[in-house]
Amino acid sequence: MTWRATVLTIFPELFPGPLGTSLAGKALAAGIWSCEAVDIREFGEGRHRSVDDTPAGGGPGMVMRADVLARAVDSVAKPSDSRPKLLMSPRGKPLEQARVRALAAGEGVIVLAARFEGVDERLIEARALEEVSIGDYVLSGGEIAAYALIDACVRLLPGVMGKEASGAEESFEAGLLEYPQFTRPQEFEGRPIPEVLLSGDHKRIRAWRQAEAERLTRERRPDLWARRKGDGPKSE
Ligand code: SAH
Repeated sequence: MTWRATVLTIFPELFPGPLGTSLAGKALAAGIWSCEAVDIREFGEGRHRSVDDTPAGGGPGMVMRADVLARAVDSVAKPSDSRPKLLMSPRGKPLEQARVRALAAGEGVIVLAARFEGVDERLIEARALEEVSIGDYVLSGGEIAAYALIDACVRLLPGVMGKEASGAEESFEAGLLEYPQFTRPQEFEGRPIPEVLLSGDHKRIRAWRQAEAERLTRERRPDLWARRKGDGPKSE
């Protein structure tokens, strides 16, 4: 069955955009997933199809209207549609690989990519939108965040990447960052490939990669390291 991504945006021409290239693009052409962009302006107010207004209480910028967005959301999120309704938002829960995996295993996503200062809070409540952040920084719009979320999901769909995407060895899959990778030439500017990787001894190679993944995670992401549980003792 086709995994369906529907993006609500005032810039529908941005989709599929970069998602139409490379592996995601091939999978799109093959019908493994679909990408529909819905123009929020079609649900706007008045002759100018206005979607935003000044913030209640004053302050800078504009806020996207609840009534306009509700019409846009309701045009795609029919009661029979079980896809989660996501709002890209720096206030949201930071996106992680486990959530990406769960989303990829479902029927698809409905993504609201906001603009301006954000959206009327009542819309978020009334349509039970799940706020999702792609990191602690502020983008000028939700479209680039939607690219990130959809791309992360699509590469996990069966038939998109081959077996490496489902491999447990990628960053985050085992609560660890990935081990360092090398390829030819055997020596680069005086730096050789670690001897163990040329040994052909798969047991030693696996142990080296595991140790390196643990070292990198401990050094770079103490937060991930601390959260890690299950596989083996937490050597320190
Ligand atoms: N005034 C808001 C930021 C608005 S940025 C605030 O301070 O929280 C405009 C839009 O870009 C947001 O509504 C959201 O849809 C998107 N956006 C910006 N940063 C994002 C992030 N880190 N993750 C996901 N979406 C983001």
